[in-house]
Amino acid sequence: MRSFAWLLAGLVACAHPAAEEDGGLEGGKDDRGTSSRFVEVDPTHTNATFRVYVHKALDKLAANDSALARETVKSIASGKVRLDELADLTCADFERVRKDLPDLGLTAADYGLLKRRGSEVTAAIAGEIDGYMWSNRIYVSRGQDPQRLAATLVHEVNHVINRSEVGYYDDLPTSAFLHEYRAFHAERMFDPGYYEGVDLVDYVLTEYELDRTKIAQAILADPLTPKLVPDADAWRTRSVDADAPDPACP
Ligand SMILES: [Zn+2]
Repeated sequence: MRSFAWLLAGLVACAHPAAEEDGGLEGGKDDRGTSSRFVEVDPTHTNATFRVYVHKALDKLAANDSALARETVKSIASGKVRLDELADLTCADFERVRKDLPDLGLTAADYGLLKRRGSEVTAAIAGEIDGYMWSNRIYVSRGQDPQRLAATLVHEVNHVINRSEVGYYDDLPTSAFLHEYRAFHAERMFDPGYYEGVDLVDYVLTEYELDRTKIAQAILADPLTPKLVPDADAWRTRSVDADAPDPACP
C-alpha cells in the first residue's frame, strides 16, 4: 500500500509522450537564459526547451478568461510561486519525493543522477507524478500537453495558497481528501472538458486510495473549502516568505 505522503503529487493520468530533446527551440529567452514569465527553483539549471514548454501552458492560462487562470499566471509571474522541472528538485524535496514513492526504490545517492540528460531517476519519478509541490516550489514533469500542464499549474498553485504541505496530514484521510478535492475542483474549473462525466469525490477517493468510510458523510456531501483563487486576498493570508527555509543539502 502506498503511503499518504505521496499524495501532494498530481497523479499521472495518461501515457507520456517521449521526452523532448533539449535545445533547438527558440523563444522565451532573455540574455540571462531565463524566462521573464516564471521564476525557476534552480535558475542555474535551465534550457530553452523547458521554458518554451512552460510558456505554452502559460499561454493557455492567459487565453482563459477567468480570475482563476489570470491569478494563477500572476502568482507564477511574480515569483510568489517558483516553478521548475522534476530534474531540478532541491535535495530536500528529492528526499520527500523519494520517501513518497517507496516502490521506486530510490536512494539518497540517486539525487546526483537527477539532472543528467535522459536520467532514469527523473523518468521513474515522472512516471508516477505530473507535479509536486512543497512550500512555494512547484515541479512539473515533461511531456504534458499545454492544456494539461496549465491545469497541473492551477492544481499545484492551489496547494501553495492553501499551504497543503502542512494541513494535508492533520487528520488523515479527511485532510488529504479536502486538500486534493479543492485542488482538483480548481483544475476542473479551468479545464472542465477533461473531467466531464467524472464524479470528483469518487475520483479523488479512488486515485488517492482514501478510505471513504473514514470520512464524514457531511464532508463527502459538501467537500469544497477555501481557498480557490490565488488572488490578492488569498496571498494576504499566505506568506511564503515565512515558510521554513528548505534545508541545505547534506
Ligand atoms: Zn494535489
